[in-house]
Amino acid sequence: MVWEVVGQTKAVSLLQQSLKRETVAHAYLLVGPPHVGKMTLALDLAKALNCEGTEPPCGVCPSCQKIASAKHADVQIIGLPGDGNAAETKPQAEIGIDQIRQMQHSASLPPFEGSCKVFIIDGAELLSNEAANCLLKTLEEPVGKVIFILLTINERLLPATVISRCQRLELPPLAAAEIEAVLNSRGGVESEKARFLARLSHGCLGWALSATGDSGVLQQRAERMDRLLGVIDADCEERFAYAAQLAAQFGQNRRPVQEVLDLWLDYWRDLLLIKIGCDEAITNADMLATLAEQARGYDLVQIRSFIDSIQAAGEQLRQNANPRLVLEVLMLSIPERGE
Ligand SMILES: [Zn+2]
Repeated sequence: MVWEVVGQTKAVSLLQQSLKRETVAHAYLLVGPPHVGKMTLALDLAKALNCEGTEPPCGVCPSCQKIASAKHADVQIIGLPGDGNAAETKPQAEIGIDQIRQMQHSASLPPFEGSCKVFIIDGAELLSNEAANCLLKTLEEPVGKVIFILLTINERLLPATVISRCQRLELPPLAAAEIEAVLNSRGGVESEKARFLARLSHGCLGWALSATGDSGVLQQRAERMDRLLGVIDADCEERFAYAAQLAAQFGQNRRPVQEVLDLWLDYWRDLLLIKIGCDEAITNADMLATLAEQARGYDLVQIRSFIDSIQAAGEQLRQNANPRLVLEVLMLSIPERGE
């Protein structure tokens, strides 16, 4: 058996048991942060259900290989149209009802080359209301040889009726040490960099792996961090301009703004850790000197209260509050630095 997903022993062993007992559910909901391994696990399950080897998923039979290279006719991924396509100038913000209808039509036909049809809905929180309702009908009337796997980073945006029709599997972030080990063994990353990336990854292996191969990821982080440091020392006008810019970006694509807020959270958490003498536990290990210098200008109460503000802002954005207002309030909450 070759499960590609790293860690996630609880979810994997549950699926293995269901496969063994032939009690695989007809719908799963995989919940976890971005890049934690949801798609990898969904594809593992698709392979296991269609594998031609003796110990599914074998990873080497024609069926497993086709699924790995996204060429298997019975395994389909439904996601945002235009996602990841540079030619598409304005990606759609929702998974629409037409996509779900098309999927339903395809689900009504027997498997073409494998033994089980698998439909993976990537970003299920992005289903439009209509699409979710339409999907619900399918989930309520299971048919044989078809399974649906919904992937989501935020299940609270899904209708409870949809969630209740799925078997829920939670994929928690991995331990930093686990990620470090994979980077060392798989990526051939030198150990200091592996350690650093493992910390920055927040337990999301996919992120760490993409960062090893793509210096753009770290470059982007450095730029965002520069901006953060600039904003901390800026006047009100500049902070508001920054809030407006983030809010506009949020309207286009939520993900980068959430990432920026996570970066803010890391930064202030690091200040807190330094303040209480836990320097070795900080995330931004490459910035220790700057952080130590900054930490001297704040007291613990200020840092803690601003961390609360960042968390509150993230929560309000997830609940669809007015992004500009939320971000402006956050900018106003940045504590005054003493000397
Ligand atoms: Zn196989």
